Amino acid sequence: MSAIDTLPPLREVIAAHGLSARKSLGQNFLLDLNLTAKIARAAGDLTGADVLEIGPGPGGLTRGLLAEGARRVLAVEKDTRCLPALEEIAQAYPGRLTVLNADALEIEPLAHLTPPIRIVANLPYNVGTELLIRWLTPAEWPPVWDSLTLMFQREVAERIVARPGSKAYGRLALLAQWRCEAQIVMHLPPSAFTPPPKVSSAVVHISALPEPRYPADAATLERVVARAFNQRRKMLRAALKGMAPDIEDRLIAAGIKPTDRAETVGLEQFCALARTLDA
Ligand code: SAM
Repeated sequence: MSAIDTLPPLREVIAAHGLSARKSLGQNFLLDLNLTAKIARAAGDLTGADVLEIGPGPGGLTRGLLAEGARRVLAVEKDTRCLPALEEIAQAYPGRLTVLNADALEIEPLAHLTPPIRIVANLPYNVGTELLIRWLTPAEWPPVWDSLTLMFQREVAERIVARPGSKAYGRLALLAQWRCEAQIVMHLPPSAFTPPPKVSSAVVHISALPEPRYPADAATLERVVARAFNQRRKMLRAALKGMAPDIEDRLIAAGIKPTDRAETVGLEQFCALARTLDA
């Protein structure tokens, strides 16, 4: 489904509501509704799904999500100046858009939604990374959400999908890939945004797997990975020294050479190491 709505063009919306972009809120808006529809489609089949959108701003992506058939959109926006523009969208799609004026870092909006749930956002990058880590580390797996479709600075997107042996490979890759499928689905140049940011961006689509790829205790795995990559240039026997008196034996038991460095070790081996540490 793709219905271009009857609302005014976003440039007019921004002018009418005085939405000059604020740097402090990381405001780089997407004004091309074809592009926002494309991002909404990258989130998968929205018909019958509840969508949590963080940072709708003037609502370009929100309009895309609704036009692509989302059952309901819950949009969390910190900037009160955006609320009248979002209210116009709510009126054009009766009963389908709810706007919460809040800081997304301060609330837990997922409890208000009914599965299947998809999360979609074009957010300031620091907020996006913090929320991503929260969404990837819920108390229980599978999480309440089915997928995350998030805009990131290209370099952060590459860290999420990175494979062992690459510079970008680290904690974020392991955290995302342990229990999810993560893919870059779109690249965007600075010129796609108003005003243009300094760096390129990319949309990452992350879908939750029903179970982790390899068994491990989430907290132990997180601890090992954080330690290993904190000193990524050190050999693992040195980087993980404080974790167990016989760390060399445990590394060997997990199929890892104690002289290896974190960036060459794959997810399966990190999970095996977490298991031997808990044994
Ligand atoms: N989604 C819109 C678009 O694509 O045009 C706006 C994107 S702009 C990069 C980021 C939006 O997130 C802004 O509207 C900003 O006010 C909002 N925002 C920033 N920090 C936020 C936070 N902590 N909680 C909720 N919204 C936030």
